[in-house]
Amino acid sequence: MPENDNVKVAVRVRPQNTKEREDFSGNRCLEVDISSNKITLDSKPTPKPFIYDFVGDEDITQEEIFEVIGMPIASSCLAGYNGTIFAYGQTGAGKTFTILGPSTLDVNDIESTQRGLLPRSIEFIFSSVKKEIKRCSGLEFLIKCSFLEIYNEQINDLLSDQKNLQVREDVKKGVYVDNLQQETVANYEETLELLYKGIRNRHVGATSMNKESSRSHSVFTLAIESKEKQDNVWNLRSSLFHLIDLAGSERQKSTETMGERLKEAGMINKSLSVLGNVINSLVDISEGKNRHVHYRDSKLTFLLKDSLGGNSKTCIIANVSSSSAAYGETLSTLRFAERAKMV
Ligand code: ADP
Ligand code: MG
Repeated sequence: MPENDNVKVAVRVRPQNTKEREDFSGNRCLEVDISSNKITLDSKPTPKPFIYDFVGDEDITQEEIFEVIGMPIASSCLAGYNGTIFAYGQTGAGKTFTILGPSTLDVNDIESTQRGLLPRSIEFIFSSVKKEIKRCSGLEFLIKCSFLEIYNEQINDLLSDQKNLQVREDVKKGVYVDNLQQETVANYEETLELLYKGIRNRHVGATSMNKESSRSHSVFTLAIESKEKQDNVWNLRSSLFHLIDLAGSERQKSTETMGERLKEAGMINKSLSVLGNVINSLVDISEGKNRHVHYRDSKLTFLLKDSLGGNSKTCIIANVSSSSAAYGETLSTLRFAERAKMV
């Protein structure tokens, strides 16, 4: 992927599932050319090409996704810059697979090759920290994690039972979520335990409220602080690394959309379109254009205000299926990714 720009857009095409292979005879609505990062969607009268910073096909492994997308951002977080990775796409397109891994994994699968970006990034950060500490005797690190979800524009803590937390902005602290639980973590295993504790809380909350977790955004954050004494002065660094599994981007069928569902759908569509606008403004700014960034238009972009833009690294991974069955949603995801950034 290009090294110099701070906002990147990637697309990952997942393998077709049994239903797509059987009910739609495995028919494809797109072709992938990984060498030119191009996806060509079947469309009338002529096929439509889309080009991104990076395109992965059905054969791309979790390890490759980490090497191309996770590692550069995790490394730059260790160097003191903020980093954010978003997984975007319709429900079933592979967002959670990309961020976490298959749902069959649990807290004990600390070495599985199926692990997604989040466990791999945590492992990478702790092993890098260990190496750095060995190298420089005066260097110290403090790593904390937090985990929240945003459902209907309401922020709920997944590591405690606190609901409806508020985003605040302070001259000194910058933007932060008030009362959010932050746990100090010493190693990969401990962080994975908190991650899975949060995932369990998310499922319990979803069931008791009669919703699906695909209707909310989940935001896992590592706060990395380091200090190093050089010539008797402390050199301080701090950065935030966010990994975000976004709510499903599918349009609700109007006949099924009433009451709570209608409200949910409206909130999801709005917050995803605000995210698209914010990323688009950041791309324009990095190209030298003068744009106002509307961070405050959604809870998600507001709480990420200090982490997007400037020297921060951001990657949005759009997940799609190649099946003809998913044509409409795939087209809308490819368009969202294109609008976020024209390559
Ligand atoms: P989402 O989070 O977008 O709703 P999931 O990540 O849960 O979608 O993926 C839906 C199903 O497809 C899951 O069973 C998941 O394990 C599987 N899947 C998704 N992407 C891949 C992939 N690249 N390789 C193999 N299986 C995948
Ligand atoms: Mg999911």
